[in-house]
Amino acid sequence: MPRQFRHPVVGYSAAILLQFLATSLSLLLIYAFANFALSAVPMILVIVLIGILWGATPSLLAVISGVLLFSTVIIPPHFTLVIPRISDVWEFGLLILLGFLIALAASQRERSRRRTEELATLLGQAHARAEHERLRLRQVLEVLPTGVTITDGQALILEMNATMRALLELETPPAGQSIRTLAKSWRPAADLSTPAQQGALARALETGETALDKEMEIETQSGQHKTILHSAAPLRDESGAIVGGVVADMDLTEHKQLEEALREANRQMDSFLGMASHELRTPLTVLRLQIQVARRRIQRLASAEAAGRALEPAQEPLARMEQQLGRLDRLVSDLLDVSRIRAGKLEVRLESVDLAALVLQIVEEQRQAAPARTITVHLPTCQLAPLLLDGDRIGQVLTNYLTNALRYSPAEQPVETGLEMEGQQARVWVRDAGPGILAADQERIWDRFYRVQGVEARSSTGAGLGLGLSICREIIERHHGQVGVQSTPGSGSTFWFTLPLVRQADGL
Ligand code: ADP
Repeated sequence: MPRQFRHPVVGYSAAILLQFLATSLSLLLIYAFANFALSAVPMILVIVLIGILWGATPSLLAVISGVLLFSTVIIPPHFTLVIPRISDVWEFGLLILLGFLIALAASQRERSRRRTEELATLLGQAHARAEHERLRLRQVLEVLPTGVTITDGQALILEMNATMRALLELETPPAGQSIRTLAKSWRPAADLSTPAQQGALARALETGETALDKEMEIETQSGQHKTILHSAAPLRDESGAIVGGVVADMDLTEHKQLEEALREANRQMDSFLGMASHELRTPLTVLRLQIQVARRRIQRLASAEAAGRALEPAQEPLARMEQQLGRLDRLVSDLLDVSRIRAGKLEVRLESVDLAALVLQIVEEQRQAAPARTITVHLPTCQLAPLLLDGDRIGQVLTNYLTNALRYSPAEQPVETGLEMEGQQARVWVRDAGPGILAADQERIWDRFYRVQGVEARSSTGAGLGLGLSICREIIERHHGQVGVQSTPGSGSTFWFTLPLVRQADGL
């Protein structure tokens, strides 16, 4: 029925009008057939029609108007509500009963129609919401810097974002295909000789297993080799059943190339470091020898009174040359040690060493090198059993700690050093009243070439290359010990290292 006729007012009008027409039809039939006994049938048909087309209330009005017309117009005596004949009473009762049953059925039908309409509206809204979410998800996927592919339970592609399409050199999203067919080969980076037996996605779909960050090598359709970080996980419905999979791929090709370039640059730097420090060693040794020869000759000449005074001005530059030569020597030694460490060739020769005596010897050397400074030593009162260690290398560590302490603290402040036992280890420490080190720098000063900004050397020995502490750490770790520093900016620092008293099973 057209929409404009569906209004209830049209239904009410139609109910009354059609009942008048039905009454007229009944009268006509009674007039035509004297024994016509079904005079209520046209009215009942009208009630059915109104119920179907307009629903419960108009059909109720059709019942009432039908009943009134039937009793007043059809059944004699006319224009009264009196029904004297028993057969008419039956027909009248049947009309009322059927009329009400039809009106009831019409109201049920209408109620279920309204429910169906409501459900259809809700379904429409849910569908619109789902579509909106799908669009949003697709937009988010499109801007992700990681390649994402969503598949169904048979590993066939449903969605693929722009990053993934770029990675596989595809122009359009390949819906309905298997991801495996989109590249010529997929191989695990750890073993390039064998193609991947079963993909991470297939496993995820089969067993529900999530595979994270597997490095793979792929060959694209155009023949390009790419390194990717490949992850796959199953997608499940509310009941937990696997209904699809999601694959995430990150292109590491550029990253890998940069890493290789960096490794190559590092290799070149290491070989340069090794070569340069070796080449510098020879002229340095010659220089030191020549200076020693010159000093000896001057001393010999100076024994004559007059020549001694004449040679006096040559002594100081010679001493300064020796001092700078010592500094140069230390820098080259550091470079050589670092290149040995990088090449894994730093040798540690174990011997039985009296650690307390070694500490005293190194302190004495530093006292002679810096006679103006005060260096105090704290040693344990009891005799310490000799330890198995490389005396030269451990001496080098303590020397480095002491020269740093002297270098970075004011000349008038003493430097303290000590040796103590701590359970199963010996602990050697050096304390200064220098500028201290910020917590953020305390970890990093042990790295190669790291120097704290704004911390200046106060002695004439000058600052180093930031290598000393990294060499110290390597030497101590090779002895299975530990290094560390306790420091408060403004209140000085205490550098320490420990050495195990018991020799390690692997003998270093
Ligand atoms: P360098 O030869 O430059 O001293 P090191 O590896 O021995 O190299 O030390 C690394 C950095 O740690 C130094 O440059 C300095 O900034 C800081 N440092 C080392 N010892 C001390 C100290 N006793 N007090 C303050 N800063 C120190």
